[in-house]
Amino acid sequence: MSRQFDLVVVGGGIIGCAVAYQARSLFERIAIVDQARSLGAMASSAAIGGITPQSDDICGTSLSLLADQSRALYPAWLREIENEAAVSIPLHTAGLLQVALSGAELDRLGCVLVPEWISHGFEVVPCSPDDLQDMEPLLTRRAKGAFLLPREASLEPTRLLSALDSVLRRDARVTVLTGATVEEMRSTQNNIMISIKNGKTLSCHHAVLAAGLGSGRLLPARNVDPMFPVKGQAMEFQVPGAVGYPLRFQLYAKVAAKEGTKSSYLVPRGDGRVAAGVTYEYGTSDSIPSRAGYESVLTGVTALVPAARSWPIQRHWSGVRPATLDERPIIGPVTEDARVIAATGHFGLGVTLAPATAELVCSLLGGRGLTVEQQDTLDLCKPARFIRDHLAQVVQYLPSHVQ
Ligand SMILES: Cc1cc2nc3c(=O)[nH]c(=O)nc-3n(C[C@H](O)[C@H](O)[C@H](O)COP(=O)(O)OP(=O)(O)OC[C@H]3O[C@@H](n4cnc5c(N)ncnc54)[C@H](O)[C@@H]3O)c2cc1C
Repeated sequence: MSRQFDLVVVGGGIIGCAVAYQARSLFERIAIVDQARSLGAMASSAAIGGITPQSDDICGTSLSLLADQSRALYPAWLREIENEAAVSIPLHTAGLLQVALSGAELDRLGCVLVPEWISHGFEVVPCSPDDLQDMEPLLTRRAKGAFLLPREASLEPTRLLSALDSVLRRDARVTVLTGATVEEMRSTQNNIMISIKNGKTLSCHHAVLAAGLGSGRLLPARNVDPMFPVKGQAMEFQVPGAVGYPLRFQLYAKVAAKEGTKSSYLVPRGDGRVAAGVTYEYGTSDSIPSRAGYESVLTGVTALVPAARSWPIQRHWSGVRPATLDERPIIGPVTEDARVIAATGHFGLGVTLAPATAELVCSLLGGRGLTVEQQDTLDLCKPARFIRDHLAQVVQYLPSHVQ
């Protein structure tokens, strides 16, 4: 006997939880199914929590516009979740300083990124080394300058996930099934049949595939597995004596390293902590923190904030980002009849893109008309680009490390 639902969401990371949360306005019987013991246990709980359409490397691509829409949705979305969960999820909104540690980097930011930010309508404020000393006293005196991106935001993902978990579990419309590995999703004439490892089957009218790295093998056989792991390591400091935000801004810079450049990213928390990272380990799918990752993050952090050398490290962790072969998410109908919708492959931007992804998926599920921006997103992120016969078109966009 199979249990019948209106909607089954496969995967309970930030994307699956955001979709299930939003879909409650459309359906009375929703199941969210995850193979882990708790929701959000994979990439989502490893995220640092930047909501960053501008400072990420996607800037200038159409994805940064989607990310910008998502950022705009965040404050109201969080208020709604906070009210329902009766918890606070602080959103840091002072902005982000993208710092240049060399003259060449200052030129690159000024000549390449600033025109892109401006052409996308993003705000940007140039800051001289003198400005920086007043604005962020802990920042290294070696900074050649920076650009303030005043609308970049951040939050603590584990707080958001725990609030979503508690709202979903309390809602009579939602069934949360953890420790349940989905083995197959099969469309029949009337239903979608979702087979779970222990032999159970769920039957539903609509399904959303939000299984992160596990999504590839649940796509129809005509698709290649488009998922690609990118391990990331991060750590958390407790700044001695700090009670509020120990830094006024998020800080981001490209730091020179043996292997080229690496990203150094610091995100202050409201209780005196600073989360920092991150490594990009392409093709690595284990989530075991390593000594090399530790050294790499620490070197990046101290290049930006030398005082961090003496900050006690509370935690060092790693997670695996669910990237795709062309580094774009996969969002949209997987089957011709649109009953199965993919929402996966968010790489390093799942937290940033969660509300906009949920809104788009729910527009599709509810048969609502799409905005021009949503249609553009679907064109950019459509699952069909990974159908075997279409793959030649994708190959030309593949980054060099996966070719
Ligand atoms: C170190 C690090 C820092 C990051 N920092 C940021 C940041 O600052 N800002 C940002 O926007 N993003 C950041 N990210 C990226 C972000 O974490 C991901 O994009 C996001 O978590 C993806 O969410 P998801 O729900 O798609 O995937 P996941 O969180 O991986 O969730 C997928 C879920 O599907 C489940 N699943 C898989 N297969 C099956 C199956 N067969 N059956 C049932 N369940 C299944 C898994 O158990 C998992 O819970 C960071 C990532 C890392 C690693």
